Amino acid sequence: MRFCLLASGSKGNATYIEENGAAILIDNGLSLVQLQGRAKSAGLELSKLKAVFITHEHGDHVKGVGPLARKYSLKVYASPGTMMAANGTLGRVDYEPIASGETVVAGSLKVSSFSSSHDATEPLIYVVKGPGASLGVAMDLGVVTHLIRQQFLNLTAAVIEFNHDLGMLINGPYHYVLKQRVRSRVGHLSNEDASVFLTEILHQGLKHVVLGHISETNNLPELALQAAREALAKARRGSPSLCAASQWEPTPVFQL
Ligand SMILES: [Zn+2]
Ligand SMILES: [Zn+2]
Repeated sequence: MRFCLLASGSKGNATYIEENGAAILIDNGLSLVQLQGRAKSAGLELSKLKAVFITHEHGDHVKGVGPLARKYSLKVYASPGTMMAANGTLGRVDYEPIASGETVVAGSLKVSSFSSSHDATEPLIYVVKGPGASLGVAMDLGVVTHLIRQQFLNLTAAVIEFNHDLGMLINGPYHYVLKQRVRSRVGHLSNEDASVFLTEILHQGLKHVVLGHISETNNLPELALQAAREALAKARRGSPSLCAASQWEPTPVFQL
């Protein structure tokens, strides 16, 4: 299995996952042209895509799904609540409902979905398994629930939201109401929350951890990486590579 975050952050998200010549995308908040450009620069082929899995209806996750799905004739998986909320944005797509706890087979990949805690209608996060490797993608969640923690325990790789530095958020330019929303149980994970989660799921088999959805207003990649490094040093139960994903360019392609 190999994967790459083609974009990550409040201006657009797209995670590409490939196994044995067939690929899926989790979310697409980029235009078709942007996504094609990013895939090309990462050495990936969008023609290998079979399906798009949507986490929730916020624009940074669904804006580009419709054009992409129509261009490559992709199936679109999302919860019924997400689909209803995103209907105006998506246009006509080949939609398949997916519920929390359900697993869908796409080529050699098994994609399982689990409810998350975020201010959207029926948000999901996804854990993807292939022969001998697994990847969990946990972004846009206000709190790590028991269900999500359980599902992330034995992964080969994880994408974890390191959204904000609490000090930067509190002292930053956001309006009070928005600050409260980001910090709430249906908002986003802070560097501190994410580090605790990382410690909980750390084991010797965890090879790569990507820090995602890093706020450009309330965080710095270096602060997120520092928090993750300190968590790893304290826990001492594994030494995965760390990478801070960017809004503007793809991460390296990680081979699992
Ligand atoms: Zn988002
Ligand atoms: Zn969101």
